[in-house]
Amino acid sequence: MTGEGHDCEHTHDDPQPAAVRPRSDWQTVAGYRGRSTGHAYSTRVSDTHYRPLDAQVIPRFAGIRTFMRAPHVTDLSGVDAVVYGIPFDTATAFRTGARFGPEAIRSASALIRPYHPAHDVNVVDSLSIVDYGDLPVSPGDTERTYAQVKAALGPLVDAGVFLAALGGDHSITLPELRALAERHGPMALVQLDAHADTWDEYFGQKHFHGTTFRRAAEENLLDASSSVQAGMRGSVYGASDLEDARALGFTVIQSEDLRALGPIDYAEIVRKKAGDRPVFLSFDIDFLDPAFAPGTGTPEVAGFSTVEALGLLRALRGIKLAGADVVEVSPAYDGHGHQTALAAANVVYELLALRALGGAPGA
Ligand code: MN
Ligand code: MN
Repeated sequence: MTGEGHDCEHTHDDPQPAAVRPRSDWQTVAGYRGRSTGHAYSTRVSDTHYRPLDAQVIPRFAGIRTFMRAPHVTDLSGVDAVVYGIPFDTATAFRTGARFGPEAIRSASALIRPYHPAHDVNVVDSLSIVDYGDLPVSPGDTERTYAQVKAALGPLVDAGVFLAALGGDHSITLPELRALAERHGPMALVQLDAHADTWDEYFGQKHFHGTTFRRAAEENLLDASSSVQAGMRGSVYGASDLEDARALGFTVIQSEDLRALGPIDYAEIVRKKAGDRPVFLSFDIDFLDPAFAPGTGTPEVAGFSTVEALGLLRALRGIKLAGADVVEVSPAYDGHGHQTALAAANVVYELLALRALGGAPGA
């Protein structure tokens, strides 16, 4: 698979896929020692393919925490997928704390291995993945943060790389969509969340974690009629909460209906709605039941298990992902085993696998 708009050696110039290239081709890169030397830091198979640390050489518990232990790189040459944090959480309605989400997800992601058995894909062979670090934010100032995030994402969008954000509260999806829509036009949203996040305002604020997708529809960043929101549940302020989302054009699948549908039929609805549009997948960790993901800002009971969530995501195989995020991980409320962060890290891995399988939009 490849990012669009830049040369990527293993797909354009080299008929031999990276996975089967002999180890003698591995190069020593500044700051990284090739495995052939018997030393420590992981290597990449060519000048243009970044790889995580090799757990056979550096144990998983060692090293500085980046997502999946990918190198922290901000030069986008040769990069297919960028994982980055947006540590902003002052647009939450209840518990704050998601500013520490990126840190916790990175830490939990040290456990993730390259090969995805369910999809039969080696994610790190298929994609050259880097951790870009965290984008600049301004605590307490949502709109200033939006401007910072959108500006920071400009070069990444221009490079055509897959964008995978670690939130942060759900307000941060709006500037991601603003940046990506400049390249892709109105996208199809696939949202898994206990809440539709389509309120008009909250505490008099138009930009809040519960207003994101109304703003996105108004700004034509999304095509609501191509978009599917699923997992909505719990008490709401009134019947209008979900009716408003439907009135905007979104397909809304409440949690009971989603459970009855199952992964195959859910994925069929998503494919039919999305059509040929590039997809943005937004996963709010409160889609999971608080038993599986207690570390979040607005937990709702009777949610989905981790295994159900992964089943739904895996059924989406083949969709053309332009970008994705996993939001609302609030580590201070997590359990002793950090199960929320671990679930979030694995969801990001599933999203990278989907991009590896589906390729870039337009590819
Ligand atoms: Mn949300
Ligand atoms: Mn939510």
